[in-house]
Amino acid sequence: MNVKFCQYCGAKTEKKIPKGDDHLRDICTQCKAIHYQNPKIITGVIVEHAGKILLAKRAIEPRYGTWTVPAGFMELEETAQAGAARECYEETEAKIKNIELFGVYNTTVNSQVYTLFRAELDGLHFTETVESLEVKLVDPKDIPWDDLAFPCIESALERYVKEMKTGFTVQLEDIHGSFKGARSTGYYDS
Ligand code: ZN
Repeated sequence: MNVKFCQYCGAKTEKKIPKGDDHLRDICTQCKAIHYQNPKIITGVIVEHAGKILLAKRAIEPRYGTWTVPAGFMELEETAQAGAARECYEETEAKIKNIELFGVYNTTVNSQVYTLFRAELDGLHFTETVESLEVKLVDPKDIPWDDLAFPCIESALERYVKEMKTGFTVQLEDIHGSFKGARSTGYYDS
């Protein structure tokens, strides 16, 4: 992604490698401000209740109509776990308890890092929202594997289902894969 105009003075930028740096950056032609761009953190949570997993069908792009666990971009001055709980509430209205780290996922292909937690449903309320077309508790054997939103979600759910039987671990994973199925547009958006 390019930053074409300076965030500070509005002048045009140009691509240059600053002194002592080894990456091309967008540098303001007037005030010389350097516009660094860095990976974004997405935080999310696998919520379990009575052996089932809370899934939400996306009502927003990218990957409209595919299934995911609640997750989204961290806000400033927020912890990763608070962000996961917030995203869960925004997308499903579910409240959660006993939140634990489950995994960290590097998705270098689109410069994102996922922090994924696991938690239990606190109370039985959840519902569709402006961000989710449908929200439901799904038995592991009924997870729509061919209709999941992101490779990272697929990988995390695969391990989660396995570890429901063997005990949970915390893992660091590198995600290189692309989507299964036809609905693969939008992955590189945003
Ligand atoms: Zn400037």
